[in-house]
Amino acid sequence: MTNVFTDAIAGDRRALSRAISMIDDRVDGVLDAIGGLLPRRDSRPGAPHVLGITGPPGAGKSTLTNRLISRARAGNERVAVVAVDPSSPFSGGAILGDRLRMEAHASDRGVFVRSLASRGHIGGLSRATGQVVSLLDAAGFGTIIVETVGVGQSELAVLEVADTVVVLLTPESGDVVQTMKAGLLEVADVFVVNKSDRPGAQRMRRHLELAVELDDGPWAVPVLLASATEGEGVDAVLHAAKAHLTWCEGEGLGVWTLRRAAGRVRTFLDLVGEDARAATWAALNSEHSDLRLALEKGSINPYAAAASWEAKP
Ligand code: GDP
Repeated sequence: MTNVFTDAIAGDRRALSRAISMIDDRVDGVLDAIGGLLPRRDSRPGAPHVLGITGPPGAGKSTLTNRLISRARAGNERVAVVAVDPSSPFSGGAILGDRLRMEAHASDRGVFVRSLASRGHIGGLSRATGQVVSLLDAAGFGTIIVETVGVGQSELAVLEVADTVVVLLTPESGDVVQTMKAGLLEVADVFVVNKSDRPGAQRMRRHLELAVELDDGPWAVPVLLASATEGEGVDAVLHAAKAHLTWCEGEGLGVWTLRRAAGRVRTFLDLVGEDARAATWAALNSEHSDLRLALEKGSINPYAAAASWEAKP
């Protein structure tokens, strides 16, 4: 275990893949291994720059990510991508996805792409994502892109780990009210209306600008137009993401620090909750199997069972 993590940090890509699988599989001892790392990003923003990219399915996240990888590589920066795909329950699908994603950058050793498919539940995904980002950080990647489908609050929890969140929409994404309902307005540090080669992009942009002005947060969220397939507007996206990072390092340091602090407490609660669940599940399968049977039969309801369970010394 320790060797796998040490090798992963030293730059062994196979060990890195194995270590990530161990995180995904919740192998015993993984938390100790992660806890022993010294992620650079705990100390200050941008070391590395963790970029979250979210938006509805088909908005162009993968296309934009590929463009961003190319830009980062042109600057000789090492890039890692964690694609979080809660919609695909089979890791086989995720591995196939990685192959497709990797195609353009397959021979480039400065690029590492990995999918986390949902083997467990969405809470488990955000937990795993945080650990994977810590590992990639310790392995020295300069930019870490976390790509996720933004369709609900729980999916957005995955983005808690990011310094800068880019929300990708399209002219067809519907109205701004929907965007707000999906919680995207709260998480966005940069809005991008992708597929600007299609009608309605300017209109969507104006609506988003109005919503952002009304929101009046401490950081002025830019609303950009891009066409990821054409490669247009990609530099502006990168520029806006860097500008946000610069803000986090200076004027916005307090906001950044609060986000990180809240994230650490949430991570702790998630992990402890998960351990308690695992221990309870083990108990239901051994010494308390009568309780499990009673729950299954319905002779005790889960609320009463939980109340008496919690009341146990
Ligand atoms: P994701 O599901 O958000 O990762 O979206 P993809 O990157 O897979 O893109 C979904 C589809 O939209 C693909 O067919 C892309 O070629 C297409 N697409 C992406 N960006 C653009 C764009 O700027 N303009 C147009 N017209 N199509 C785009």
